[in-house]
Amino acid sequence: MNLLLIRLIIFAVLFFAGLKLYRMYREWKLDRDGPQQGGDDQGNRMVRCSWCQVHLPEDDALRERGDWFCSGDHRDKYLAEQKEEKKEEQKEENRQERDD
Ligand SMILES: [Zn+2]
Repeated sequence: MNLLLIRLIIFAVLFFAGLKLYRMYREWKLDRDGPQQGGDDQGNRMVRCSWCQVHLPEDDALRERGDWFCSGDHRDKYLAEQKEEKKEEQKEENRQERDD
């Protein structure tokens, strides 16, 4: 008579047990993988954007001439600034040559 009710309860218990197991598994997996901070040996090294100094995983960073960047925008800004600095240096050199 109450067979259907008992089946429903068993089903519900199994469902919540499965849900709990799934959550436990996820937490265990997070613990095992660890937070993605600090360098570890699995290639998830943290690098610093040369423009805004923000730290990010090497996988998400862009590399240009030995420098790391968080985005193409910051790479372009940094390289543009470096070009400006080079121009300034050349101007300085030209001035010095003229002075001599
Ligand atoms: Zn940046």
